[in-house]
Amino acid sequence: MKASLLNSDTQLNQASYYEASVQREPAGAPLAGAVQADAVVVGAGYAGLSAAIELAQRGMNVVVLEAERVGAGASGRNGGQVIVGYASGQHPFVEQLGRADARRAWDMSMESIRLLDGHIEQHHIECDRVHGYLHLADSPRKARALVADMQELRDDYGFDSQLYTGVEVRQHLESPRYCAAAFESVSGHLHPLKLALGLAAAARKLGVKIYEHSPVTALQRGAKLVASTQRGSVTASFGVLAGNCTLGEFGPQVAPELTPRIMPVGTYMIASAALDAALCERLIPSNAAACDNNFVLDYFRFSADHRMLFGGEVSYSTATPTNLKEVMRRRMVQVFPALADVAVDFVWGGFVDISMDRAPDFGRLGRNLYYLQGFSGHGVATTVLGGRLVAEAVSGQAERFDVFARLQHRNFPGGAMLRMPSLVLGTLYHRLKDLL
Ligand SMILES: Cc1cc2nc3c(=O)[nH]c(=O)nc-3n(C[C@H](O)[C@H](O)[C@H](O)COP(=O)(O)OP(=O)(O)OC[C@H]3O[C@@H](n4cnc5c(N)ncnc54)[C@H](O)[C@@H]3O)c2cc1C
Repeated sequence: MKASLLNSDTQLNQASYYEASVQREPAGAPLAGAVQADAVVVGAGYAGLSAAIELAQRGMNVVVLEAERVGAGASGRNGGQVIVGYASGQHPFVEQLGRADARRAWDMSMESIRLLDGHIEQHHIECDRVHGYLHLADSPRKARALVADMQELRDDYGFDSQLYTGVEVRQHLESPRYCAAAFESVSGHLHPLKLALGLAAAARKLGVKIYEHSPVTALQRGAKLVASTQRGSVTASFGVLAGNCTLGEFGPQVAPELTPRIMPVGTYMIASAALDAALCERLIPSNAAACDNNFVLDYFRFSADHRMLFGGEVSYSTATPTNLKEVMRRRMVQVFPALADVAVDFVWGGFVDISMDRAPDFGRLGRNLYYLQGFSGHGVATTVLGGRLVAEAVSGQAERFDVFARLQHRNFPGGAMLRMPSLVLGTLYHRLKDLL
């Protein structure tokens, strides 16, 4: 039987290392009664929270409605890798918008890292922030692709990384698997749930009201928007939809036109037992985050308490892969044979909202309802940018938001029933290519 997205998603959040390593405040009461606001935000992940902060900083009265808890979605469970650039690379921007706007999109991606660090500093968010990133290749063909990507970013955008090949790679990552690595220090990593909770605290300090356990089940559009939950409603002049893959699960009628443009793809993580600090330093001396350039990628890094946090695997149905903990452990040991005897303490996962071409999908539904989706697994920094751009657009400066809104996004082929099988076929092809 096909598992529902919501059931799988909830189950995948039962045993996350991140939840086990924070203290949450008890949830407040869900929304009840009729509330008025300047702006209503649906979803308390990074996208919704950063939009709320930015709108509140511009003097707006903002209400955030969250179906579960702050950071309960992808924002509280991800790899914590803060990555410059977009999952799509620059190609959709160059091809659809031309070189000048592609350049602006790149510059905004660089800005997204500064914005994120600005939030962390300004709001005193303790989230174990580390700079340093290794992009890895595990075959000569992938190494050529890595070098080509580096070259393009250097030539077209002035973005430099340091290339290591052959035996040099082992000085930066003690793994037999990789033959090339590109290091840069703009990207890096952090504790994702601490970031989400920190953003929520910052939003509250700015006067934003956040109602948890308040799924939006209906949204009336017009000059005034009315977002309804089971026991209450928010009437507002502006709205931001930041509900990621589960938006349509909680409220199928909230924005049905957005659902076919993204595909929920399951991705999974494990956290090892805490390791010796000396071993961590030997395996990744720079303590950088790392990710390979395969189509189905492995991504990993150490936590502040010296656990290996290893992500990978994918599922294109909503079902969780069987024997997940062992499958993930084996992947980790392939990369780091030195961890063969290390226990795995946590296993969890979530869904990534991929768009057809993996470029972010920002836009408007009517004049006053904005949406942010399609982060395609590159959302930690880009969501924060999205929040700023929405706030600029709401305040009448839409030029930068519109760089993204002008990108055309196609629906996944096959409609609701067939979009997953079509994606599986397409992906099988790329998985086979990864093995060559
Ligand atoms: C396992 C995993 C690993 C990842 N690793 C990385 C990584 O290392 N680096 C990176 O850059 N990106 C990574 N990502 C992607 C990144 O986490 C996301 O792009 C980002 O967190 C998306 O933020 P968001 O605010 O759009 O969505 P979310 O964080 O998912 O927030 C959406 C929120 O909206 C709520 N919601 C949905 N519908 C409704 C409704 N109708 N009413 C009210 N509330 C609603 C949900 O409950 C949820 O809390 C990863 C994702 C996963 C799942």
